[in-house]
Amino acid sequence: MQRKIQVGILGATGMVGQHFVRFLQNHPWFDLTWLGASDRSAGKKYRDAAQWHLGGETPASVADLVVEECKPGNAPPIVFSATDASVATEIEQAFAKAGHAVVSNSRNHRMDVDVPLLVPEVNADHLRLAPIQRGGRGWKGLIVTNPNCSTVVLTMGLAPLKPFGIRRVVVTTLQAISGAGYPGVASMDIVANVIPYIGGEEEKMQQETQKILGDFEDGRVRNLDARVSAHCNRVPVVDGHTATISVEFSSKPAESDLLEAFRSFAGVPQQRKLPSAPPVPVIYMTQPNRPQPRKDVERERGQAVFAGRLRACPVFDYKFVAMGHNTVRGAAGAAVLNAELLVSEGLV
Ligand code: NAP
Repeated sequence: MQRKIQVGILGATGMVGQHFVRFLQNHPWFDLTWLGASDRSAGKKYRDAAQWHLGGETPASVADLVVEECKPGNAPPIVFSATDASVATEIEQAFAKAGHAVVSNSRNHRMDVDVPLLVPEVNADHLRLAPIQRGGRGWKGLIVTNPNCSTVVLTMGLAPLKPFGIRRVVVTTLQAISGAGYPGVASMDIVANVIPYIGGEEEKMQQETQKILGDFEDGRVRNLDARVSAHCNRVPVVDGHTATISVEFSSKPAESDLLEAFRSFAGVPQQRKLPSAPPVPVIYMTQPNRPQPRKDVERERGQAVFAGRLRACPVFDYKFVAMGHNTVRGAAGAAVLNAELLVSEGLV
């Protein structure tokens, strides 16, 4: 890339916004030049508007940028969205209408039939919805979304196995507290405890998985014809969502077929060598006690998903474990990879 593309963040002062700021530092294609938030923050320097919750100081490259209101106008061509869900629908649509590529992390548009819900290794072809979205809505720009943080881990884990015909999935999650934002779950609730409820999470995992693993046919995404049941739990882990997954297939693959599928899995980001693509998107670990969040979550800049413990399941066909970084691959890193895919497709 000869000249960097200017990018901005909607909701830059929030928890997810800060993860975007951090992930975009020294990006080879993108230059973070614009930060948006509510009118409570607009007009202040970023260092004063945002209470920095991540390690170290507010990055020097953005500390003195003046935060703007989330209104299109002088915003750059690509905006990452991490605005509060209560306002994301209107804000994201206004930016798309004005010609911006909105790369959203919010749930608001994920299930819209004309909005790609992307995991670039899994369904890059769903970007073929983009011209349909533009034509149908009359927008000069577009909206693409990334999934919920636990759904990324599940779909990256399942995608290599899709050719065997996924029929039924039961997944149980052990989700990190960083997924709840800041201040998140009260310490008295989570220390030495497990909370067997995360509002709305199970429905999101079930629905989003069917869309992501669906096929683009006749101008729309045909959902994966599989039943998915999710149990979601919050556990006292800082970063890294773990999912234990049981799967039934329509074919009856051998264990060695599945292992080979994990090991040979790669997608468009790897073929195109996108800057935020992990060289190996799903890393299969052979040790019987891995992956583990504390030991594995920071590897590969948090962009890979780790799988392991593949074995026969007495109820379904096979079961295994998958783990990924919820605020990186499940949020900011996922969206930045989506933006790289958009650029590589010539859509920005
Ligand atoms: P947060 O810390 O509360 O931050 C919310 C952001 O939205 C702040 O920058 C805030 O600005 C801004 N905002 C609030 N009201 C606004 C308004 N009226 N106009 C413009 N901006 C406004 O929330 P968060 O935890 O970062 O979550 C942000 C979004 O990401 C949510 O939609 C959430 O659902 C989504 N999310 C996704 C995942 C995932 O799995 N991918 C994980 C967590 C969260 P001020 O500071 O000025 O108030």
